[in-house]
Amino acid sequence: MLAQANNEETENTEDKIRPQRLADYIGQKDLKGILNIAIAAAKGRQDSLDHLLLYGPPGLGKTTISLILATEMRVNCKITSAPALERPRDITGLLVNLQPGDILFIDEIHRLNRMTEELLYPAMEDFRLDVTIGKGQTAKTRSIPLSPFTLVGATTKAGSLSSPLRDRFGIIQRLRFYELDELTLIVKRTAQIISTPITESGAIEIARRSRGTPRIANRLLRRVRDYVEVQKAETITAELAATAMDLFDVDREGLDWTDRLVLNTIIKQFNGGPVGLEAIAAATGEDRKTIEEVYEPYLLQNGYLSRTHRGRMVTAKAYQHLGFSSHDSVDIFSK
Ligand code: ADP
Repeated sequence: MLAQANNEETENTEDKIRPQRLADYIGQKDLKGILNIAIAAAKGRQDSLDHLLLYGPPGLGKTTISLILATEMRVNCKITSAPALERPRDITGLLVNLQPGDILFIDEIHRLNRMTEELLYPAMEDFRLDVTIGKGQTAKTRSIPLSPFTLVGATTKAGSLSSPLRDRFGIIQRLRFYELDELTLIVKRTAQIISTPITESGAIEIARRSRGTPRIANRLLRRVRDYVEVQKAETITAELAATAMDLFDVDREGLDWTDRLVLNTIIKQFNGGPVGLEAIAAATGEDRKTIEEVYEPYLLQNGYLSRTHRGRMVTAKAYQHLGFSSHDSVDIFSK
């Protein structure tokens, strides 16, 4: 009962802090510029939006964009994910129920199975569903017209999408990690929504440790808020935020326990690399996919890891950050 109540509380808060309009969506300037044009053009033509593929690490705002597009276009948004579309009737059921202009959001779209993907091709291209009725020689194909709709696909790995599917998206956009000033704005905005006083430097401290990711910024803010409440303080200051996050094991550069485990393992067990993902996963006990899609992108982007054709290597910056003496690093790291 309590767990359910907590879940509901989290979901409601989640809905409240999610920006509703494109103007409230902080950062991602290029993407917003492109979407503003696409929205204006589609409205002018009284047409549905082009299909849109969004890629980038989790928590950067892909689902949020899809919901915003629906609000801006005044249509509905159905949210699903590839693993939930196992049988052909899962996708056909969704498609035939779409109203004109509706948005269908498919998360983890690189994981669609072959059959579902093939049903999507004519649906995306001609708003038509080709279904086969019967089996063997008596099988017949029937075409069912669909309402014009917009598919928004989200993926952490654009490279894993088959090219026929990728080619059917009119707009393909990458979401980038957020800058410190953008994340600071996001923290302040969320703090206001959840009625938590925070100083400017408190917001910066949380933003700095959020790995460029709004979802992490919001999560850290809520955990820091809990800590501050328990301390009977009223306002989140930089000092309180720093103490709380140290306690949660999120360090000054935003690396958490698993980030440090990955880097430490490569240094200690593989002499700094190069080492393959499989070996890192086995040695750390973490899931390979999670390392590749959740942890590694930030470590690569921020220069703690580098990727070579022989595997992953830690950099001089990682050695330094983890407090290893410089004799541990060989020359190639200090480039
Ligand atoms: P993804 O679908 O990429 O995993 P979400 O769209 O679920 O990410 O975003 C995670 C959370 O971060 C959302 O709850 C939303 O409140 C917040 N968020 C994401 N992008 C932004 C943004 N640009 N401005 C403000 N908040 C954002």
